Amino acid sequence: MKLLTSCIFLLLFYTGLAQLSDREIMDLKTGRRKEDTSYIYWLPYAEKKSFLLIQASNSQISHKEELSLDFKMKKGSKICAARGGIVTSARGDSDKGGLKEENLHDGNYIIVQHTDGSIAKYWHLEKDGVFVKVGDTVQQGQVIGASGNTGYTAFPHLHFQINDATGRQILTRFYTRRGIKYLRPGNWYKCVHP
Ligand SMILES: [Zn+2]
Repeated sequence: MKLLTSCIFLLLFYTGLAQLSDREIMDLKTGRRKEDTSYIYWLPYAEKKSFLLIQASNSQISHKEELSLDFKMKKGSKICAARGGIVTSARGDSDKGGLKEENLHDGNYIIVQHTDGSIAKYWHLEKDGVFVKVGDTVQQGQVIGASGNTGYTAFPHLHFQINDATGRQILTRFYTRRGIKYLRPGNWYKCVHP
């Protein structure tokens, strides 16, 4: 068993740049893989607030083949930077949302780039719910916007996603009330700051 574990670790080490396998994703989702050196994010909303994670990595609804998180959130909830960085792209003028193909281009959003080249995407923000502009430096935990229901969406929620410096979507760990975790859908997560 120990040998197997070391083999898996070596394998993970050497395939670090490859796409995550279903097995790795499963290990992350079930918490079987606990220790790693990845950056620990703050939940992307106000401290002490709790929201329900309705879908995550590779779940069956709209995130097939996507490693991202959807938090159910009523419109106007404060969105906070999960990690500090520089705003590289943002839009806040749309008031349209729905499940038609045309709605794919209607989302208000903020994209923040971090020092390691990774980016965070905050999507479906409400009209005028973008409080930062391109070039701004944002601090971790800073209120950057307000949630909404713009773009390709069936109900108000925040779509949150991290891409690493190579553009690959990745899962990340978060500080939660119950410790440092990879998130699992169906659970409420309270934002705590370490
Ligand atoms: Zn989503």
